Amino acid sequence: MLKVGLTGGIGCGKSTAADLFAELGAPVIDADLISHELVKPGAPALLEISRQFGPDILTADGALDRDKMRELVFSRPACKKQLEAILHPLVYTEMQRLMKILDYPYVILCIPLLLETNMQHFVDRILVIDCPVDEQIKRVKLRSRHSEETIKAIVASQVSREQRLSAADDIIDNSGDATKLAEHIKKLHNLYL
Ligand code: ADP
Repeated sequence: MLKVGLTGGIGCGKSTAADLFAELGAPVIDADLISHELVKPGAPALLEISRQFGPDILTADGALDRDKMRELVFSRPACKKQLEAILHPLVYTEMQRLMKILDYPYVILCIPLLLETNMQHFVDRILVIDCPVDEQIKRVKLRSRHSEETIKAIVASQVSREQRLSAADDIIDNSGDATKLAEHIKKLHNLYL
């Protein structure tokens, strides 16, 4: 089975693209969804996080305090590394487990931080969803309550657009409208099949 790593900067359209592949019948495995599952109340990864970061990292009802975690990770690089060391290996292991039960010519592995985590070797082909940084910021502003400053900080924490494009086997230019995106995805779907 061909493993296609779908990646791109925040707001470039990864989730939208992944949904379009799924609509065409392709299996999609989402690293973000997995990492959310891994830190549900009572999950082993969450227990490890509270062991390493202290119980204050949990809300009163035992869930991960995401705002606190985000703040910590952004202000202290060592904490970011520590959190990633807990989560990333588990995310990749879970993706591998999920892939084993699939029966399809290809799988879309939606991995926002594929390049940041240096996991290019985990996939056979890299598909980058690309759009200009200004457009990224505009789209994330519309979709979330983040300030422009926060969005810019997230963009700056990810690999640059140029680095991403140079790592790509396939590129979808998602600066156009949603109809264009669907056409691109249909073409790639046929190529991957
Ligand atoms: P990502 O998963 O890469 O963060 P999303 O797929 O969530 O990005 O897209 C970010 C936002 O931009 C969403 O609100 C989505 O509906 C919107 N969007 C995606 N593609 C387009 C497009 N081609 N034109 C306009 N808005 C788009």
